[in-house]
Amino acid sequence: MTEQMTIGIDVGGTNMRAALLDERAAVRQRVSTETLAAEGFDAVMQRCAGLVTALLTNANATNADWPIGIGVPGPLSHKTGVVLNAPNLPGWKNAPVRDRLAALTERIVVVENDANAAAYGEFVAGAGEKSGDMVMLTLGTGIGGGVILNGELIRGHFDNAGEIGHMVVEPAGRECPCGQRGCLERYASAAAIADRVREALAGGEQSSLSNATELDSGAVQAAAAAGDALASRIWSDACRYLAIACVNLQHILNPRTVVLAGGLINAGEALLDGVAKEFRRLTWKMADDAPAIRLAQLAGDAGVIGAALLARKFAGGTPVQSAQDFPSL
Ligand SMILES: [Zn+2]
Repeated sequence: MTEQMTIGIDVGGTNMRAALLDERAAVRQRVSTETLAAEGFDAVMQRCAGLVTALLTNANATNADWPIGIGVPGPLSHKTGVVLNAPNLPGWKNAPVRDRLAALTERIVVVENDANAAAYGEFVAGAGEKSGDMVMLTLGTGIGGGVILNGELIRGHFDNAGEIGHMVVEPAGRECPCGQRGCLERYASAAAIADRVREALAGGEQSSLSNATELDSGAVQAAAAAGDALASRIWSDACRYLAIACVNLQHILNPRTVVLAGGLINAGEALLDGVAKEFRRLTWKMADDAPAIRLAQLAGDAGVIGAALLARKFAGGTPVQSAQDFPSL
């Protein structure tokens, strides 16, 4: 195999996956394993190296010097490849991801925030197609964000641009573990939606969810669709806060597209319609510059695709900036 490939890795709190991307940004191989984060930083790095070996073995290319892009939870320094603090990964304080993985695999490693990597993957090969300016919100346990303007991932001076989950949408609102109050992710992440229902039930509110065995955001959305008053209120709240975030993003960044990703988009049209309806109500009427709000298309592949593409871009390979570069995609 002589084609120049790139390796992408996506490290999550529970699982991690890796993929081999070809020159046309198509996934050729996939492998995954449990993160087993409790074993600490170095054990996770060893498992990442194991995934790389598995990919190269499967591709019959163990001698290839293909670079690695790795998406990890932040905050982190893209420049030094050091994760400053990852709350879901024990022992990842000032963790030298780039240097450790480079030493284990003997190849170039580029480290990126996982939400940024996923946004870049979705931008090139998914819902951001043909849109040079895109913002993505990943709605899961928390809310991650990624901003692409003019085809470039925006990191900011401190490498923390795009932390949209910590945009304040409710002054003096719910406390966030980050130290602020009223952060978007305390109202509109999948976890926050379930938490808010639990808190209301504990406070004595009546709901069809009172005896639910599994109270997650999917159960809340289903109960809302069935007319449950509490579930409807919390679900509508989440849509409204996401719409507020979209209005703020519209005016700060003026993106062509806002993409919603993560587990919450399993709700499909119920989420998209809910956010779009609130957005139309809230946004200004002075100019016709509203972003299209869309659901992500790549599901679990966005992170590995984005990480691999960023590795190619920063390791000196042919940069890939938009889907236009890949007319066949
Ligand atoms: Zn916060």
